[in-house]
Amino acid sequence: MVGARLVTPVKVGYTGRTCTLDVPCIRPTRKFVAMLPTDQALRALAAIVGPQNLLSSRAERTVYGYDASVFRGQDLLAVVFPETTQHVARLVTWCQQQHIPYVARGTGTGISGAAIPTHGGVVIAMARMNRILEIDLANRVAVVEPGVINQDLKQALLVHGYSYTYVPDPGSQVVSTIGGNVSTNAGGMHCLKYGITSNHILGLEVVLPNGEIIEVGGKVVDQPGADLTGLLVGAEGTLGIVTKIIVRLLRVPEAVVTQLALFKSVDDAANAVSDIIGAGLLPAALELLDKASMQAVDQAVHVGYPPEAGAALLLECDGLREDMPRSLELIAALCREHEVLSIETAETAEAAARLWLSRRAAFGAMARLASHCYIVDGCVPRTRLPEALRQVTAIGERYGLRIANIAHAGDGNLHPAIPFNKRDPEAMQRVVQAGREILEVCVALGGSITGEHGVGMEKQNDMPLMFSPTDLEVMRRIKLAHDPADLCNPQKIFPLSMYASPTA
Ligand SMILES: Cc1cc2nc3c(=O)[nH]c(=O)nc-3n(C[C@H](O)[C@H](O)[C@H](O)COP(=O)(O)OP(=O)(O)OC[C@H]3O[C@@H](n4cnc5c(N)ncnc54)[C@H](O)[C@@H]3O)c2cc1C
Repeated sequence: MVGARLVTPVKVGYTGRTCTLDVPCIRPTRKFVAMLPTDQALRALAAIVGPQNLLSSRAERTVYGYDASVFRGQDLLAVVFPETTQHVARLVTWCQQQHIPYVARGTGTGISGAAIPTHGGVVIAMARMNRILEIDLANRVAVVEPGVINQDLKQALLVHGYSYTYVPDPGSQVVSTIGGNVSTNAGGMHCLKYGITSNHILGLEVVLPNGEIIEVGGKVVDQPGADLTGLLVGAEGTLGIVTKIIVRLLRVPEAVVTQLALFKSVDDAANAVSDIIGAGLLPAALELLDKASMQAVDQAVHVGYPPEAGAALLLECDGLREDMPRSLELIAALCREHEVLSIETAETAEAAARLWLSRRAAFGAMARLASHCYIVDGCVPRTRLPEALRQVTAIGERYGLRIANIAHAGDGNLHPAIPFNKRDPEAMQRVVQAGREILEVCVALGGSITGEHGVGMEKQNDMPLMFSPTDLEVMRRIKLAHDPADLCNPQKIFPLSMYASPTA
């Protein structure tokens, strides 16, 4: 059942570079059968989840072929909404028996195409497994089902008056699921200080591709054995389907101060970020918008940026109340060294929300500029951010594209946003090509092809930029040890060249 071994020279990368994938590469030996709905198959699925949890009309199948990326999948067999772990286990077992590919889905806000059903089959949508099962303050954990919306957990903790919160806060927190966040190892605005999703996940219940249910990690932090939780977080649903999650809760900080600093240029703002962190300060958030982003945001939510401002830096400091004045003073002094134009400090929660709006509205604002927006996700050491953004501008000019930059600047995580018309195939090609060149720049500057959105199908062919053939083959062996037929979110993450064969 395990695949054949393949030794073959392959082309990788996208700028004409080639390299040889010269290690034996395990690949599945069986073809996927593109399966359209049949009465028999739909009856079998309905018997598992109930007819109320099954979608199979043409329109419904089409919609679930998309996520928030620019890609789309193949025609599906059906979309199912399990309500229990047993449902998931039975669905997976049925797919294995029928040799039908399947992909788990949260709310489809992923930007790298990780939830796209590239080979059709069954979409297992986890949105109806959305109960908060337990809030255990004594152990500072909560146990949730994967379909819980990120913001809903925070809101539930707030409503109960608890002084604890679940910190990871991707920009999509009001709509994305914690299961999706776990599977993409999502980042967010406050990751600079508090870490990414993987730093907040203590344990998981997972349905493996063979239908078995396992529990990894737990409420106790120091677990013996291999860190299987670490392996499964960020696996983009390729190693199993997460059905329960134990998350860490942290105390809400005593004081939070939000500021908006405007600079003449991106270089000034980015250099201020490096100096702030270099001085030993660790703000909770440091978010940067360039001029093009500021203009888009202004048109959408009327912030009223002065025309001379070339970059906006949103800062949030939190901690003990008595530490705040000293931190803010130091930040102001460092910003002045980089010719800051103004620094506004929010005096009330409403004022803070208004300042945050400029950042939170940014991606929505881009969506007003064209029918589609390609959001690149790369990462560089934060000191290289000015250089990276300069090169992004140059790439945009070379391809005749208007690129607006939004960055989790504290993490060196950049999100060049490229509005375009997807119906124009030439434009789509230019955009994707420009995005790829931006990732090459990130890697060349010592960074990564993804800061937080994951690999999915968007960046699978970029993996050789960062990983050697041996690295990739080791990762693939882990995948195929769990899922020899590669049915669980198939042919994702790894370069397509690793699947290249007449039978794959
Ligand atoms: C406006 C906007 C802002 C964003 N901001 C950020 C940001 O700041 N930081 C960030 O990291 N991302 C961000 N994203 C990207 C996206 O929201 C995240 O990747 C998010 O974690 C995806 O969650 P989801 O529920 O939509 O998952 P989906 O997109 O549905 O799925 C994503 C991946 O997770 C897998 N998956 C989902 N549920 C499960 C499960 N239960 N078990 C196993 N696998 C599963 C899927 O198979 C897929 O591989 C943003 C997206 C948008 C549209």
